[in-house]
Amino acid sequence: RYHRVLEENRKLYNQVQDLKGSIRVYCRVRPFLPGQPSRTSIVGHIDEGSIEIITPSKYGKEGRKSFSFNKAFGPSATQEEVFLDTQPLIRSVLDGFNVCIFAYGQTGSGKTHTMTGPNELTEETQGVNFRALNDLFLLSEQRKETFHYEVSVQMMEIYNEQVRDLLVTDEIRNSSQGLNVPDANLVPVASTSDVIELMNVGQKNRAVGSTALNDRSSRSHSCLTVHVQGRDLTSGTTLRGCMHLVDLAGSERVNKSEVTGDRLKEAVHINKSLSALGDVISALAQKNSHVPYRNSKLTQLLQDSLGGQAKTLMFVHISPEPDAVGETLSTLKFAERVATVELGAAKLNTEGGDVKELKEQIATLKAALARKE
Ligand code: ADP
Ligand code: MG
Repeated sequence: RYHRVLEENRKLYNQVQDLKGSIRVYCRVRPFLPGQPSRTSIVGHIDEGSIEIITPSKYGKEGRKSFSFNKAFGPSATQEEVFLDTQPLIRSVLDGFNVCIFAYGQTGSGKTHTMTGPNELTEETQGVNFRALNDLFLLSEQRKETFHYEVSVQMMEIYNEQVRDLLVTDEIRNSSQGLNVPDANLVPVASTSDVIELMNVGQKNRAVGSTALNDRSSRSHSCLTVHVQGRDLTSGTTLRGCMHLVDLAGSERVNKSEVTGDRLKEAVHINKSLSALGDVISALAQKNSHVPYRNSKLTQLLQDSLGGQAKTLMFVHISPEPDAVGETLSTLKFAERVATVELGAAKLNTEGGDVKELKEQIATLKAALARKE
């Protein structure tokens, strides 16, 4: 009964999410890092779906501004809490949906922390990538009487509008023509530890390509793609789902008068691809008939998994540092651009019956669940 209630709860949650549409934006505020002098956070009030930014007078026009999201996570939110709100989306991959999860934000805002975790990984600090894979393997095991799943992964990096396959072990293929997802090595995996091994290979390959001075990871997009093929054991029908987990290049704006050469080239490419991504997501959110996928390698690569039946989640990361307030506001402006239309629609629905009713049912189920515990 307990499991039935849980399952029911999850289904209702999914329905609420579906009513909200296929694009979600979650905001995560990084905590202050240990060992730094104490400052006041520029993030004021945080609630479940919004945050307030307080601009200190020293950094321009003093003021407060609120931003809304599908979900907001404060600096004390744990990796587990963040994952719990991502899980339903991830699970839909096993039902044949395509899913894209992006980590957006300036360098140092916590993108890699959310997707992978800190350098010293423990079970507790593991990010979305590991938890997602664990969950997929766990769920496919639970369904093994009715479904047979095969899972395989690809790892790619996009640097200066060139796609590199990170799972080519013998030689690094540096294709200037660009690479399509189907061309990149697709490696079958049977457990999370298989994937961790591959991720280490990918990480090494990434390092090989980087010049000594560059912290390349902040200037390239990295993408872990998980393909799932499922066969219904009774009917024999098959389904395919795939999930892209994308740690984007740092979104910081570069002062073009101060950089030259490689740095300028990188900045131009990053800028171009992040705005192309923003354009695509906002066109999808507004249900425009033309979606400009072809303006960057990133959006081209993910075209089949953005829009249509696919589900998109953008984690927008911000830092609490007063110094970063300019970047933070620009990050939040990006978030608004990809989310407002969708959130507006969701708000309208809240007034009507469906979402309200589902929320009530969830509250009832949660109460039932609490009594069981
Ligand atoms: P990015 O990938 O956006 O450049 P990182 O994920 O590397 O940023 O984060 C920068 C630093 O802040 C790292 O040392 C990371 O461990 C730490 N950090 C980021 N987010 C959190 C968080 N939510 N909790 C604790 N530490 C964090
Ligand atoms: Mg990073």
